Amino acid sequence: MATIGVLSLQGDFAKHEYVLKHLGVRVVKVRSKGDLEEVNGLVIPGGESTTIGKLLKRFDILEDLKERIEKGMPVFGTCAGMIILAKEIEGDNQPKLGILDITVARNAYGRQIESFEADIFSPFLGTKPIRAVFIRAPQVVRIGKDVEILASFEEKPVLIQQKNILSASFHPELTEDRRIHKYFLSLVGK
Ligand code: GLN
Repeated sequence: MATIGVLSLQGDFAKHEYVLKHLGVRVVKVRSKGDLEEVNGLVIPGGESTTIGKLLKRFDILEDLKERIEKGMPVFGTCAGMIILAKEIEGDNQPKLGILDITVARNAYGRQIESFEADIFSPFLGTKPIRAVFIRAPQVVRIGKDVEILASFEEKPVLIQQKNILSASFHPELTEDRRIHKYFLSLVGK
């Protein structure tokens, strides 16, 4: 059985843990590089990307995690997790993994509508719409040629994949639809 880690430094890691447990995999909280050795795949949750980035550095996880992902470990970053994975953050130089070939603009969906929900469609995940919850979400403003767009909203990519790296700018752990987490587990493939 696969062991999936949920990076549990800050943010809504508990929800991902809940969803993954219900999908029948072993789940561990990752808070050190030792924890990382146990896992076959990792979820980086939403939260505050500047805090998660700083803690990744402070707990000395950043470099090991980057190496694991570069060697092919599947990773799924949601919202702040997408920012942490991104190669570039517009106007910012906060600690990050920098391995997903996109540029993101933080909080780019505007102040008045910091949080909203929308139906999105992904031909990769069936014909039923996916209810996407955006909470002070980042916007993908540039996308590299090796990054596949699995779903868009208002012509901007919101669910993307670069080989073993899956990322959503919204929060699939906050709805009942498990298709995206299941898809991530299929990348882990154990
Ligand atoms: N706005 C947050 C950030 O910039 C991300 C919000 C979220 O993860 N829901 O880190």
